[in-house]
Amino acid sequence: MTTRNDCLTRDAQDPLASLRSQFDLPSGVIYLDGNSLGARPKAALARAQDVISREWGKDLITSWNTAGWFDLPKRLGNRLAPLIGAGGDEVVVTDTTSLNLFKALAAAVHLQAQTPKSAARRVILTERSNFPTDIYMAQGLSNWLERGYTVKLVDSVEEIPAAIDADTAVLMLTHVNYRTGYQHDMAALTALAHARGAVAVWDLAHSAGAVPVDLNGANADFAVGCTYKYLNGGPGAPAFIWVPKKHQATFTHPLSGWWGHAAPFAMAPGFAPTDGIGRALCGTQPIVSLAMVECGLDVFGQTSMAAIRAKSLALTDLFIELVEARCGGHPLGLVTPREHAQRGSQVSFTHPHGYAVMSALIARGVIGDYREPEIMRFGFTPLYTSYADVWDAVEILKQILDNKEYDVAAERGAVT
Ligand SMILES: *Cc1c(COP(=O)(O)O)cnc(C)c1O
Repeated sequence: MTTRNDCLTRDAQDPLASLRSQFDLPSGVIYLDGNSLGARPKAALARAQDVISREWGKDLITSWNTAGWFDLPKRLGNRLAPLIGAGGDEVVVTDTTSLNLFKALAAAVHLQAQTPKSAARRVILTERSNFPTDIYMAQGLSNWLERGYTVKLVDSVEEIPAAIDADTAVLMLTHVNYRTGYQHDMAALTALAHARGAVAVWDLAHSAGAVPVDLNGANADFAVGCTYKYLNGGPGAPAFIWVPKKHQATFTHPLSGWWGHAAPFAMAPGFAPTDGIGRALCGTQPIVSLAMVECGLDVFGQTSMAAIRAKSLALTDLFIELVEARCGGHPLGLVTPREHAQRGSQVSFTHPHGYAVMSALIARGVIGDYREPEIMRFGFTPLYTSYADVWDAVEILKQILDNKEYDVAAERGAVT
């Protein structure tokens, strides 16, 4: 079995090990929740200071031009693009994932309605296990359209292919499931959706910066995702939306704000969309928060998604191996696929007292999180997680379980 010394040896040979020093992580903490809120790049503090004191404080409104504030959503989109297989001028960093999904779904419905024999297609198809906001946004759009659209939920991954039928207008899937860490085959499902006449929209919230993604290679139609998870953009950092070149000329959505206008400062009373990816923008962006996204992307610029993926699989394999070997007598159930191609960058285990066990872990400095039902989630961020962290986290889990050091009656906070 792997020993702690083996883990230290692997850390010494890890080509990504030096990147950890670029993050501010408190001592005594093993942070396994970068899938929910990424750690802070050290550079973010000086960058925030500069944006607030110089760009805002001294240069005031001129910074919209001189500091590049107005172009920031596009500039950051171009920096993010290579991580998700997007081309230049196909991505903007803006708004929230929920809002971007609304725009993408509206555009998808519009695109689908232009194709021949589209009249009967009124179903937005997704998974019951999708992140709830994705389902809610689809329901909100469907209800509001009042054109007979409905959201259909499938109960298992195996049911998806057969469920894509002559009624399906849009297949809306989250590439990596937030609860289980299951990763879909994006290329295969997109091809199937297209073959059956549907448009494919992907949510990359748990994929961007976590697993290699090739949106153009998969011939996907639209995509959205978060920057505050694996991309380390900071709490509530703006999300992103991808509109490929092939769909930009027809891309349209109801949130036609002035930032998507061809000439915003002409102040014309009628909306005329700008060309290109800019039409995915809506209104004025939170510049301080947006600027932080670049500090996270700077770290990705020093490595490759292939290197990140190799370490992610090694860390998650190690965690599964050690939990099963060292905590084997306890009622833990692995819900994340062992199959590499089907795994994101997290490992989830069920335990009948999952919430209490996770609370005990957090009290001992091992920060993961809990999702209903019974699921303890452990995210592995190769940029700042070491093999020794994995060993130490499992050691603490083992002590908590062996000694029953958890309080089944513990009260829950508002955010789990
Ligand atoms: C995290 C996450 C979101 C978050 O959406 P917000 O609008 O940023 O709150 C949406 N969808 C999925 C699949 C997620 O994992």
